[in-house]
Amino acid sequence: MKASEISCSILLVGTELTEGKVRDTNGSFLAAELKQRSLGVREIVLVPDNLPDITEALSRLTERDRVVLISGGLGPTSDDITRDALAAVAGVPLEEREECVVHLKNRGIVHALKTNARQTMIPRGFTVLPNENGTACGFYGFHKALTVCLPGPPGELQPLFFRFVMPLLSETFHLESPPELLFSTFLVSESVLEEELTAPAIPGVSWSTRAEELRVVVTLRGKNPEDLKGLYEHLRGVFGRNRVVPGEMEAADILSRILRSSGKRVVCAESCTGGLVAKLLTDAAGSSDIFWGSFVTYRKEAKERLSGFPEDLLDKYDPVSEPVAKAMCKGALAGSDADVAVAVTGYAGPEGGADRIPVGRVWIALSLKGQNTYTLCFDFRGGRGRIRRQAAVAALLCTASLLQDGERLDSNVNWGYSCTVFPLGPHVQ
Ligand code: ATP
Ligand code: MG
Repeated sequence: MKASEISCSILLVGTELTEGKVRDTNGSFLAAELKQRSLGVREIVLVPDNLPDITEALSRLTERDRVVLISGGLGPTSDDITRDALAAVAGVPLEEREECVVHLKNRGIVHALKTNARQTMIPRGFTVLPNENGTACGFYGFHKALTVCLPGPPGELQPLFFRFVMPLLSETFHLESPPELLFSTFLVSESVLEEELTAPAIPGVSWSTRAEELRVVVTLRGKNPEDLKGLYEHLRGVFGRNRVVPGEMEAADILSRILRSSGKRVVCAESCTGGLVAKLLTDAAGSSDIFWGSFVTYRKEAKERLSGFPEDLLDKYDPVSEPVAKAMCKGALAGSDADVAVAVTGYAGPEGGADRIPVGRVWIALSLKGQNTYTLCFDFRGGRGRIRRQAAVAALLCTASLLQDGERLDSNVNWGYSCTVFPLGPHVQ
């Protein structure tokens, strides 16, 4: 059977949708993904959180179509009743599933509240889809149609779709899956990324993105693997190859890998990040091979105790300034036997500095032993936590760029993720 002959429908459950309070994105996401595999969507239906409406729509769609994808109504509250409606339509009882109980426990809900306990109830004969990003697991079963229930929040629905639903459809209907290329981008806004994905205008290539706070995970799909590679290389050229990396790497892994392969160790001097760079670098076990340590120099006196830190520097310059970042970097390098140093000083808020230095201003200084010190200046946006996380990730990625032969720091000019770089490119001392 051809994929286009497999009729599919999408049922979107939620009063917030039918009342126009939330704009549907799940329907368009699912429809576009099915279209990618040449599966035909006959109908997208929106219903409120109301048992008769959900049941009526489900009966009709499962009767007619081969595949019914359902989004929403799996939450813990009494208005989340998709599971009840599906059990009623399939004529099976809801039963508690051990894997859902364990899932809730793993997410810290130890004494399952009565409301959360509802999320452990699955229609008999249906298979559970574990949800890494939320409490509500998805599930699927074959009742007339292949019926798949997914949680409403897009950040939960999309990973479940790629991880389980697509392989399930491919296996059930013997679909040929188009070649894919998965990669991560760091500190690139979704809109800037979209522009660059569109710019080379490669026909037949499509993509889906999953945006996290500082990272966007992109999946490219198309008929020709060379086209996917071409688009990926285009992005690496634009954003730098440490901000566009294969798979789902973390920023710390990018730097760790480079340090490990070059047999070097990094030392940090951190002010506004308060040790966050060190934390990220030590999240993985065995980091002592690549990480010397971090000087968390928060107060003036702490900065002044760094090796060789000029006595009167902080009288002359703001703590968030290029000379201070440089002196922190040099001090960390001189006070350790690391091979490379990175220093971060900035205003994470809520207060900025004197002379109208804004909240979000962050200076990063970098140096390889015996070589020039480079500085970069960012204006990050967001709250205190977000600014600190952006600063820490930028510090990791800039250090990775410094260490990589041929990778110039000024390829990082195109940040565009709530930040600007100025002056453009590195300052060479
Ligand atoms: P939970 O209640 O545990 O978050 P759920 O599966 O019950 O999960 P819903 O309660 O239906 O999901 O939706 C939760 C949130 O997900 C909604 O408030 C809305 O912001 C978002 N959401 C739901 N459906 C859609 C949709 N079709 N498109 C975009 N966002 C949606
Ligand atoms: Mg709901």
